[in-house]
Amino acid sequence: MNHAAMGHATMGHVANQDWVARSLAAVWHPCTQMQHHETLPLVALSHGKGAWLYDHDGQRYLDGVSSWWVNLFGHANPRINAALKDQLDRLEHAMLAGFTHEPVVQLSERLAAKTKHALGHCFFASDGASAVEIALKMSFHYWRNTGHAQKQEFVCLSGSYHGETVGALAVTDVPIFTEAYGGMFKRAHVVASPAAVGADKALQQMRALLERRGSQIAAVIVEPLVQCAVGIAMYEPAYLTQLRALCDEFSVHLVADEIAVGCGRTGSFYACEQAGIWPDFLCLSKGISGGYLPLSLVMTTDDVYQAFYHPDTARGFLHSHSYTGNPLACRAALATLDIFDEDDVIAQNRVRAEKLAAALAKVAAHPAVSNVRQRGMICAFDVTPTQTQGFSRRFFTEALQQEFLLRPIGTTVYWMPPYVLTDEEIAWLGDKTLAVLERCV
Ligand SMILES: *Cc1c(COP(=O)(O)O)cnc(C)c1O
Repeated sequence: MNHAAMGHATMGHVANQDWVARSLAAVWHPCTQMQHHETLPLVALSHGKGAWLYDHDGQRYLDGVSSWWVNLFGHANPRINAALKDQLDRLEHAMLAGFTHEPVVQLSERLAAKTKHALGHCFFASDGASAVEIALKMSFHYWRNTGHAQKQEFVCLSGSYHGETVGALAVTDVPIFTEAYGGMFKRAHVVASPAAVGADKALQQMRALLERRGSQIAAVIVEPLVQCAVGIAMYEPAYLTQLRALCDEFSVHLVADEIAVGCGRTGSFYACEQAGIWPDFLCLSKGISGGYLPLSLVMTTDDVYQAFYHPDTARGFLHSHSYTGNPLACRAALATLDIFDEDDVIAQNRVRAEKLAAALAKVAAHPAVSNVRQRGMICAFDVTPTQTQGFSRRFFTEALQQEFLLRPIGTTVYWMPPYVLTDEEIAWLGDKTLAVLERCV
């Protein structure tokens, strides 16, 4: 360690504790029972580089969950940094109503081209939940504009997660997020997920609902291939292919929430590609800006777009966010797409996914581990600990001791790493995960 780094680390010890105390006093942390921090560690980060995060004590942590599934090409990625620095001196932000700019145009064109222009119109927002609400509102408004104002209901799958604003909670079926707020929204129909009951049964139930209520239903919303937030529940692409056909049969929109599973996470750029279908609305966020800046978007068809195209203002889609199409965020997304193209990331990840599978196989041998599963760059398994209560926090705490960041969902442990892990880092993650399991079960 060089002198400067040592000085930084020694002084950092005090700084780390100080930042933690000040954070706990002034910052209300997300998805956290703040009282748990009486025992649960809080890590005060000083910087990140590649797959690693560093705290003020100079401790490092491998970011095994891509900082909540957003980071694709590592922290402080030189190529994304360079693009952002360039953009910063050109245009940091301007409104997108009445104005447009190069990054938002190029991003819309490139994403549309990746759907072969099946989804040729791109609407922008800042976070995933807003993208979900935009898709729901657009579908609802589409039916109203086309003389089917009675189509006002929505359908989601059991165990679905689509975000935590009120409209997104209406199509979410994870009790920990919805229970306290049930009185605030009108719940969507919940149909069994293929991850829970298998594709055939799930499709039968969907058909039964659409036969009964299809004329009142605007859209079905799904997380293609992997329902992440409920505990990394996976299902096969064939379900989506048949769901697309069902939606067509009953004139119901299909919304694909690819906020977590898009951007190469499941092995193709869009998860829907694996089912050979396009939805009517496709939501992207999280990885689209490389994990740099808040950005979300909804892509849709020309049919939907044309239903709003009219002299009457009120028939337009009158939805906006202050930071809609932020140029910096769009530029980070363009730099992210450049990396996909220049490095042939989808092909590279196929190799990386095989390495992950090998590391996962070692973990699978542990007697407390079951239901091992993987789709592309998402790996998960369930753990049967002697004490279920607090397992997730125990595991998280032990993992920090072993220099990596994993945050189990209940007793489901998962890896969702950035697409930059080396072979050594993958093997290391496997070994360390086993070591933490030994201490936690
Ligand atoms: C994270 C997520 C969201 C919500 O995105 P936010 O940016 O957190 O609002 C919606 N749907 C899915 C599938 C997600 O994983």
